Amino acid sequence: MPVYLDNASTTKPCAEAVQSAISAMTQTYGNPSSLHKAGLEAQLVVDGARKSVADSIGADKDEIYFTSGATESNNLALRGIAGAYGKRKKKIVISSVEHASVAETAKVLENSGFEVVRVKPREDGKFYTDDFLSACDRSTCLLSVMYVNNETGFVLPVGEIFKAVKKKYPEVITHCDCVQAYMKLPVKVRNLSADLISLSGHKVHAVKGTGAVYIRKGVRTVPVLTGGKQEKGVRSGTESVPLIASFGTAVEKLSADIGDRYERVSALKAHLLGRLSEIDGIEVNSPSDASPYIVNISVCGKRSEIMLHFLESRGIYVSSGSACSKGQQSGVLQEFGITGKRADSALRISMTAETNEQELDLFVSAIKEGIESVRG
Ligand code: PMP
Repeated sequence: MPVYLDNASTTKPCAEAVQSAISAMTQTYGNPSSLHKAGLEAQLVVDGARKSVADSIGADKDEIYFTSGATESNNLALRGIAGAYGKRKKKIVISSVEHASVAETAKVLENSGFEVVRVKPREDGKFYTDDFLSACDRSTCLLSVMYVNNETGFVLPVGEIFKAVKKKYPEVITHCDCVQAYMKLPVKVRNLSADLISLSGHKVHAVKGTGAVYIRKGVRTVPVLTGGKQEKGVRSGTESVPLIASFGTAVEKLSADIGDRYERVSALKAHLLGRLSEIDGIEVNSPSDASPYIVNISVCGKRSEIMLHFLESRGIYVSSGSACSKGQQSGVLQEFGITGKRADSALRISMTAETNEQELDLFVSAIKEGIESVRG
């Protein structure tokens, strides 16, 4: 059995989510837009999942739109808001550590005439509300800030930032990429003061290829995908009923014990850090108050990819930085002040509540072995 410690990249779908997908493929396979009974049955499955996702973040069912995943949700949020509100308001403010699906989309908008301001962490590696406040002004159409960074687990003070900006500039639309926080920390629409929220199914034990975007009632978006006006015209395309069903089921299952799982994963992180402290030359890149689900470390003198493949040879799967960047440095660690050799040797260990101490011990033993046997 492999030791899978790459859950920030993707998770194993839970049995219930797989069962829901199979049942939608074998029983409720109609097109939700069809007017006959088979269509209605499929529609009911989608609606049930919509309610589960809405309830999980304290939203109304009508404010949830299903997408193919958070990359699409983030594209819809940025392009959709820029399209709807960006005729006269040409400024977009983001953090400098956003996932590529936000950062690259912002770059495209920048090339098409928007001004993009990227707010950086200060010298202490932390983000400050005041810096976002001073980056925004009356010409800002969108402020997009992630909740939990996918490379380090750093938790950004999104609720505080959004509240302060909304107070001074009520017209600024706020968007939060909640992918790495969802089902791990409390993600609630009201606490975040977010107008839009992006979610991904496969990070929360649903089947890959589904996600959602919450869009607060009254907020307009220009669609990225146009066509048959599914999802109330916000996202055209026949809904993937099996994937959506799996998403709803996974969320129902996880919503019940977010706090308990957080405690359990915090204890796992403490165990991992305790064991790693036995080894010389390990630096911990995640701050102590980061999400416990993600632990970023550097094994000094050993390049990430070499160590990653050594661990793989021992049946242990981790990631070097962000898996989305396929081993390429995304620049996010540098933003947090982790540079040079330390950044080159960064590994990301990401857990679930099902991870156990024995698996972490195997990881630590393999790191010890790797330090002895692999060349930098
Ligand atoms: N945002 C963050 C913070 C992520 O970690 C990821 C996945 N790596 C995404 C967005 C993209 O999600 P998806 O894989 O569902 O497109």
